[in-house]
Amino acid sequence: MDIFKKCYEFDADKIAMAKGIYPFFQPLEGTDGTEVVMNGRKVLMLGSNNYLGLTFDPRIVKAAHDGIEKFGTSCTGSRLINGTLCIHEELEHKLAAFMKRDAAIVFSTGMQTNLGAISCLIGHNDIVVTDKEDHASIVDGCRLGMGEVKRFIHGDLEQLERILEKIPQDKGILVVVDGVFSMGGDIVDLPKLAPLCKKYGARLYVDDAHSIGVLGGGRGTAVHFHMEKDVDITMGTFSKSFASLGGFVVGDKDVINFIKHNARSFIFSASLPASNTMAAMAALEIMEKEPEHVERLWDNARFMMKGFRDLGFNIGKTETPIIPIIIGDDDRAFTFWKELYEAGVYTNPVCAPAVPVGMALLRTSYMATQTRDQLTRALDIFEKCGKKLGVI
Ligand code: PMP
Repeated sequence: MDIFKKCYEFDADKIAMAKGIYPFFQPLEGTDGTEVVMNGRKVLMLGSNNYLGLTFDPRIVKAAHDGIEKFGTSCTGSRLINGTLCIHEELEHKLAAFMKRDAAIVFSTGMQTNLGAISCLIGHNDIVVTDKEDHASIVDGCRLGMGEVKRFIHGDLEQLERILEKIPQDKGILVVVDGVFSMGGDIVDLPKLAPLCKKYGARLYVDDAHSIGVLGGGRGTAVHFHMEKDVDITMGTFSKSFASLGGFVVGDKDVINFIKHNARSFIFSASLPASNTMAAMAALEIMEKEPEHVERLWDNARFMMKGFRDLGFNIGKTETPIIPIIIGDDDRAFTFWKELYEAGVYTNPVCAPAVPVGMALLRTSYMATQTRDQLTRALDIFEKCGKKLGVI
């Protein structure tokens, strides 16, 4: 049998295209962060992870240029050998201090961070337990580990406890959760989860990709709950609030040192380019010195949450600047996406496997730099299109 048979038969995209509702891979021809040009038209961007709106901040742009001037466009090698720059180490020290932990290690993407850090911690005798709504990079990091993987229903800590109590004491246990869940926008219940992990001797790994720069004055989920000592490893990415690319984990120095010497996505992949490293460092400094960006982000998020709820949209249990508009059926979600797009608002269409089958949604997310006028215009368009399609 031809291994490419599945490729020649793959038609999910063509079916959606034939219906005129294929929403993916829309090229941006220009952007200022809050508004983008697509198909020669300006649309409001409600689908980015640029939470603090820093991608055009002149200090970050300059830092990226300076990085290239000093170190060139690529490191052309892995951190282990020729690819460690002094600025990688400087950034790691600054991140560890910002997150109030012993040590940090910087990877080339957030995806690679979870792939490498999680998989190297899960040995033959270990069990990793994850929430079913954890990000795909966690799912894949677990798959690459040598140990057994168990999953609990999203947020169901009673089911988690039933799993934990059955694990023999001679097994190592890692519980991995998102701090802010990337599709629903809800926050993990750390005050209940952390004591449960302690009770059963499990270590806790929190993916704060959507929490750093957002929760706890920008320092993430543990700080948000005043529980800095209860999370063993915090993961973050530079591709969202940090206006760059890359990822990191922070934790105890021995644990970080183990990851540094064992994570295959770290050892066998080229290191973060200087431009991204310097941009992340400049963003970190801005986060530390200018809390007003996080405040503005939350002002905008609260305005939109209220706006959507008042209009009658189903936005689930979100508590953060990620606001899903839950639709249900894929075709209906894509049709609504198209209607909004043509009326001038870009959102992210999300269907299975990123969410359960039949739970398609439009993921919207907000930035510190959006103006009230832009957000009001977006709500007006949602109202008009929502009424037209009977979503509200
Ligand atoms: N974790 C979570 C929760 C994410 O949402 C993402 C990206 N969307 C990642 C990890 C991967 O990060 P990156 O895009 O930096 O590879």
